[in-house]
Amino acid sequence: MTAPDGPPSPSALEALALDLLARARVTGQEGPLADWVAAWAREAGAPVTRVGSSLVCGDLDDPRPLVLLVGHLDVVPPTDDDRVPSLTAEHLVGRGASDMLGGLAVALDCLADARLRDGEHNIVVVAYAGEEGPAEGNELAAVLEAVPALTAAQVAIVLEPTDLRVELGCLGGLHAQVTVPGRAAHSARPWHGDNALVRAGTALQRLGGYPPQPVAVDGLTFWEVLAPTQAWTRGARNVVPDAVTVNVNLRFAPHRTLAEAERHLDALLADLLDPAVLGASAHWAITDRAPPARPAREAPAVAAFLAAARQPVEAKQAWTDVARFDAADVPALNFGPGLVAQAHQRGEHVPRANLASARAALARFLGARSDAPERPAPAPATRRSETAPAPPDDPAGDDPDG
Ligand SMILES: [Zn+2]
Repeated sequence: MTAPDGPPSPSALEALALDLLARARVTGQEGPLADWVAAWAREAGAPVTRVGSSLVCGDLDDPRPLVLLVGHLDVVPPTDDDRVPSLTAEHLVGRGASDMLGGLAVALDCLADARLRDGEHNIVVVAYAGEEGPAEGNELAAVLEAVPALTAAQVAIVLEPTDLRVELGCLGGLHAQVTVPGRAAHSARPWHGDNALVRAGTALQRLGGYPPQPVAVDGLTFWEVLAPTQAWTRGARNVVPDAVTVNVNLRFAPHRTLAEAERHLDALLADLLDPAVLGASAHWAITDRAPPARPAREAPAVAAFLAAARQPVEAKQAWTDVARFDAADVPALNFGPGLVAQAHQRGEHVPRANLASARAALARFLGARSDAPERPAPAPATRRSETAPAPPDDPAGDDPDG
């Protein structure tokens, strides 16, 4: 694939991805990138609705079955190894290449393709801000509220990195703060106190020793896991602490509702932190809640996508924004060209073959009208080629872990 004088020239899709990478913005500063994407989409013939720094690109009055292609605009802070986008024989390198401006480029490229746009589905791209930051800054909820027509979609395809696997559903999450009490004392005479930090050691061991639990939902295996993720005391370093707070994170499978998961976590903690074992009563409060998403395998558009994509299918072992669509009764799935292992990495890259494969899988699902013209190549970038690299049809097993 490599020419003696350097990497092959970019395809139209790769040129678009490089344009996005060159304009990558961190969370909270997506405005200029949103401006550029809005102008690009209008140029491609799609009406654009803006909500904050987020965009809905496409015609929501179109009566054909609505398919949402969904991606976030923001990236995590770049490093010196991915600040300036580049193209090698195998990869596109740049902050956001895998997570997830590469996926967004695939979505926009489908939107602009006349053969797909005039096909069986009404394609709308949702490009939203604030995914990489705190949950309250994620604009997807505001977009779904401001543009309720989106909830009529047959399916929302979220193009987060999945290594080209179709990952269905997602885990829910709960955080609890567990307080392990003790009695304060001067650290020179610790026998006057009861060291909460030492007590917490037993609690941490029991919490950390809880084994992952496989849960089958819709023929897919999710793993329910419990992990202590933070611990802290208050007071000075010469004081035997009178309390330790431990943050505990439960990731639960979508066979439970949020309310059921809260009862489950309460029961788990009551069992693991049994005062008969710990000797002093620990107590806890649930502080943060994220609902899960069901796999939605029975939804006709999800089944049709699985048949057309011809990619491996797994449960999503994490939380993603598919949960927001599930909460709005829109079947949703995760499918993207990015490599999970490349997300937030130094020198972030995405395989060029993955971009082409994701694009081909979406095109098979979206159903091109055979007599419409292909999308014309965009205005020339610095390098042009009459022979773009041919998309391999099914390279899912090539490089699953980057
Ligand atoms: Zn992401």
